[in-house]
Amino acid sequence: MTKQGLLVVISGPSGVGKGTVLRSFMAQNENVRLSISATTRSPRPGEEDGVHYYFLSRERFLELAGSGGMLEHAEYSGNYYGTPRDMVQRELDAGNDVILEIDVQGAMQVKAARPDALMVFILPPSMAELTRRLVDRRTEDEVTINRRLAAARGELEQAHRYDYAVVNDNIEDAVEKLAAILRAAKCSTRYL
Ligand code: 5GP
Repeated sequence: MTKQGLLVVISGPSGVGKGTVLRSFMAQNENVRLSISATTRSPRPGEEDGVHYYFLSRERFLELAGSGGMLEHAEYSGNYYGTPRDMVQRELDAGNDVILEIDVQGAMQVKAARPDALMVFILPPSMAELTRRLVDRRTEDEVTINRRLAAARGELEQAHRYDYAVVNDNIEDAVEKLAAILRAAKCSTRYL
């Protein structure tokens, strides 16, 4: 029987660079899959349905969540986000590690349902740097940025509920630390 893959939950405030760290991590590591979330927010320029997210109406999202089709779901900054259950289980069963890039509320649901999940939090070097990255990204208006910064302050207080924290002051270092964490987790007696 194939050994199950590792379920890895990654959270961090909006603008911390999770996406960039994960893209680079995925490019350097095989047998790792990134779960594609469902969301009710509108696509940003360049985002494709079924690639970055499954963009759903609120009705369809709630229908899927209501029928147990999601491993977790949460409302974040006025929109719903959730992890469709099917792909995650299929990939874990095939022996691949699966990364969920989700917010703190969703992460805590996964931790409760799946105590074997490896929980990693990505931290910004400072709040000032996080603000600068969100503003420089130019994908959100001022109201949205302020909302996300308020959410970030709340999320940072939850970092201690995760197994590991990685400060993203440099992409390469953060990717390397993430790889080391997964390697260490695979040697953990938790996964024997
Ligand atoms: P964004 O709108 O910037 O793509 O994502 C906003 C927040 O939603 C981020 O903190 C991201 O990690 C989180 N998020 C993305 N997908 C999911 C999901 O499936 N479930 C939950 N709970 N949060 C998610």
